[in-house]
Amino acid sequence: LQADLVREVIRCVNFAAIKHRKQRRKDAEETPYINHPIGVAHILTEEANISDIAVIQAALLHDTVEDTDTTFEEIEEHFGTKVRDIVVEVTDDKKLPSKERKALQIKHASSSSYEAKLVKLADKLNNLRDLENCTPKYWSKARVEEYFKFSKQVTDGLKGTNTVMEEKLDEIYKTRNLL
Ligand code: NDP
Ligand code: ZN
Repeated sequence: LQADLVREVIRCVNFAAIKHRKQRRKDAEETPYINHPIGVAHILTEEANISDIAVIQAALLHDTVEDTDTTFEEIEEHFGTKVRDIVVEVTDDKKLPSKERKALQIKHASSSSYEAKLVKLADKLNNLRDLENCTPKYWSKARVEEYFKFSKQVTDGLKGTNTVMEEKLDEIYKTRNLL
């Protein structure tokens, strides 16, 4: 029922907000980190027309295990196996060096599940918009360009998943001469 869905979503965003409470984004204003997962979920509901609650919850939780003390077991306990499985698919192994993590994102993109692909597309779209609007402190132009190129390599593997998000990504890549 609708009241249950609303409750589930608020429970989830509250969990993510508590987990990310000490984190900030990398921009000069040090935007609260939670703006990012909420923004990713918002892209899915407002732009991509997604209503699968597990996908929305996974979007809200997508960086909790990667960036906080949250475990996959905890996600499963609170939000069930479907949400947990999506979060597993979108979580980088922080023990690996950054270069290797980025190579694995590119390698695994095309074989991920439909649900994980949706979250990945929205995550990249939100990060690229952030890069344009609130560029991280101390990032050179070259580093920003490098991130756009890396994102393109990942989202190339996510094609055929969601027309709206893919078109919006293409618009961004065009402005960077990557298309
Ligand atoms: P990343 O390059 O991966 O940083 C980008 C990530 O930061 C995003 O994916 C996003 O991840 C998060 N993020 C936080 N705030 C913002 C924001 N305002 N805008 C966009 N993204 C944001 O960081 P690493 O520390 O892992 O960087 C290491 C990599 O950078 C190496 O591969 C190295 O080669 C390269 N590098 C390049 C340099 C250069 O000058 N060319 C210099 C130094 C490193 P999330 O969705 O998880 O929040
Ligand atoms: Zn993210």
